[in-house]
Amino acid sequence: MSERSALYEGKAKIVYGSESPDELILHFKDDTSAFDGEKVEQLAHKGEINNAFNAFIMEYLQREGVPTHFIRRLNARESLVRHLEMIPVECVVRNRAAGSLSRRLGVEEGKILQPPTLEFFLKNDALHDPMINTSHIRTFGWATAEEVEAMRCWTLRVNTLLSALFAKAGLILVDFKLEFGRFDGELYLGDEFSPDGCRLWDAQSLEKMDKDRFRRDLGGVVDAYREVARRLGVPLALES
Ligand code: ADP
Ligand code: UDP
Repeated sequence: MSERSALYEGKAKIVYGSESPDELILHFKDDTSAFDGEKVEQLAHKGEINNAFNAFIMEYLQREGVPTHFIRRLNARESLVRHLEMIPVECVVRNRAAGSLSRRLGVEEGKILQPPTLEFFLKNDALHDPMINTSHIRTFGWATAEEVEAMRCWTLRVNTLLSALFAKAGLILVDFKLEFGRFDGELYLGDEFSPDGCRLWDAQSLEKMDKDRFRRDLGGVVDAYREVARRLGVPLALES
């Protein structure tokens, strides 16, 4: 770690202040965690790949009109972002059944979900990120009704944009998680979009190309992330 003092260290990233109070530096670590941080491993190069991957996706979304916190990539592991007041709600869209939805509702993994589902989870590791609804979000003041509607619309728009982008790369976007925050009274997409926070399957073989390889001890986690990046055309100049 550098001599800078971290404002926050999470499971996958360290957040540093910058010269401006309105901007933060996100440092992508190699740490990979699952099951609310119960399983943690260091996977060489994962941080660099996710930083490059996230920059590619955020810039794409921004070009397509999605308001994002992303400003620019600073170096192999770090990016500059707008300093948001984060909303503690995880927005999850699913195009196919997997993970907690399959477990909760007894739905076979891979079942096509039409229309795609949208779920909200409270971002709280101690409570194991419980599923919440819009009524909870309003009552407990996590976000306003307008913000909930904006999160819903932007999350579904991101699904439309990224499902098409990944399809062109021969990948199925199974599900993903987004986080939003406020800046100057406006809502922005925050945090990251990388194979750590989504499920991607090869369109032909249905092979898993995301963090499920880590969760399920399938091996080849970083190789899969690298292959996804290669297919999308994400430039990867990795540290040796
Ligand atoms: P976690 O907190 O879940 O362990 P990370 O290790 O990815 O996750 O930590 C990054 C933290 O930074 C998260 O808590 C996330 O909500 C927060 N964050 C992401 N983007 C921004 C932003 N633009 N402004 C402020 N906080 C952010
Ligand atoms: N997800 C995430 N962070 C979380 C919880 C979920 O990035 O704290 C992502 C996860 O990678 C998947 C989607 O959100 O792409 C749906 O996850 P799910 O609810 O199925 O939970 P899981 O079984 O993966 O823990």
